Amino acid sequence: MGESYTTEFIKDNIESFKSFFAKLNNEKYTVKELAPYIYELTPPKETPPNKVIGLMALNHGNEVGGLFVLLEFLSLLDKGLVNLPVKIIIGLGSVESAKLGKRFFDKDLNRCYGDVIGEGKDFQRAKVVMEAFKECHISLDLHQTQTPSAHPFFPMTFNSKTFELIRAIDPQASIIPQKPYDQKGKGVPFSHYLVSRGCTAVTVELGTMGLDYKQIYYGVHLILKLLNFTLGKEPEKFRGSFFPRRGPVFPPGPDAWLRSDLGNFSEIKKGEVIGDYDGGKKWIAEESGFLAFPKAIRGLKRTQANENEPVYVLLDRDPDYLKNRA
Ligand SMILES: [Zn+2]
Repeated sequence: MGESYTTEFIKDNIESFKSFFAKLNNEKYTVKELAPYIYELTPPKETPPNKVIGLMALNHGNEVGGLFVLLEFLSLLDKGLVNLPVKIIIGLGSVESAKLGKRFFDKDLNRCYGDVIGEGKDFQRAKVVMEAFKECHISLDLHQTQTPSAHPFFPMTFNSKTFELIRAIDPQASIIPQKPYDQKGKGVPFSHYLVSRGCTAVTVELGTMGLDYKQIYYGVHLILKLLNFTLGKEPEKFRGSFFPRRGPVFPPGPDAWLRSDLGNFSEIKKGEVIGDYDGGKKWIAEESGFLAFPKAIRGLKRTQANENEPVYVLLDRDPDYLKNRA
């Protein structure tokens, strides 16, 4: 999977994001720079109940799709094709690493949020981002997956408010409910931090990493639906799918590789050959289910997998998930 863009191109677009706010028609909006690459846009007349919306991209510097979603959304605002009913805080996370084509510097920025103490550029950036977004009531964090995804999905910190928001912005969503992280002393993802502050915060995985216009317009669509939701539009009935987590699967050995055609939501059957080992020995699945967050795929960069991390998470498809929780 080659990248169809250069680091220079991404850098230029990051600068376009920044310069957009300098030239934005300030009769329409009041612009305030809260931090580098994080801005507050206030319309002249806010619609009650005066909620503050957060929009975030590049929490992982190499997941560039979200940057183009925000640029497209901003251009709609600029052309007057979309009206902003409330204040938004819009920003880029790991922006300096993105300019270098890197996911992060030393530590995954999206595990540096919350009540955690750490050193280095990623922790410093996390502090700035948390401060800028702390007043948000509703937020959307745009991501992409490193390994192939059959479709977009929402890894969700489960509560009724986040579910209502997902239902409002994509009633056909695929949702992977996640338990809240244990906050104490451990860094958490951006949305988890916001949820812990009472914000209705949702993360979306738009699809496989890269530049894909279908994903970009899907992302813009989510933002427009989110604005409607803020205005009180009732969410539609949920017609999507829940994929509850069954459990993490750890590597059978450091030399084990998943089949390269497997990705998020690939269905695997017990006994199926799901990969091989260096030397050619087959790797057989011990359980059936749907794959999520697969790592250690031969030919793809092994950016995260190590011996202490699962190579994939196994999911169930459960149409009665909500009923079972009630
Ligand atoms: Zn990500």
